[in-house]
Amino acid sequence: MGSTILYIEDNPDNMMLVKRALEARGYKLLQALNGVTGVAAAERENVDLILLDINLPDIDGYEVARRIRNSHKHTLAYTPIIAVTANALKGDAEKALSAGCDVYMSKPINIRELWARVEAFVPSPNKQG
Ligand code: MN
Repeated sequence: MGSTILYIEDNPDNMMLVKRALEARGYKLLQALNGVTGVAAAERENVDLILLDINLPDIDGYEVARRIRNSHKHTLAYTPIIAVTANALKGDAEKALSAGCDVYMSKPINIRELWARVEAFVPSPNKQG
């Protein structure tokens, strides 16, 4: 059972928070600081789930999701993508879903919600049985 998660996020505080939270549950976290390197990492590495910030410094998260879904690497057509949106009330969430994300979470990131949403797709390696 794989447990490698790619987080595409330009904010270092969110990156550190999520890294600590997911590593505490036994996941391995790969980090990408912008959209283009995030797409490249998704294509290069074996990733079980992608956490995707929407507001990125180069291409936005919607474009990242579209590029991942249209990748020549066909496992990326169904690798789960959780969007992390700052403006869930302004339509970000709906746009993220239409761009190919499976679910979305609102910022600020709630650790228990993060664990639950990730575990819905990828069981925690630290859980017994
Ligand atoms: Mn951001």
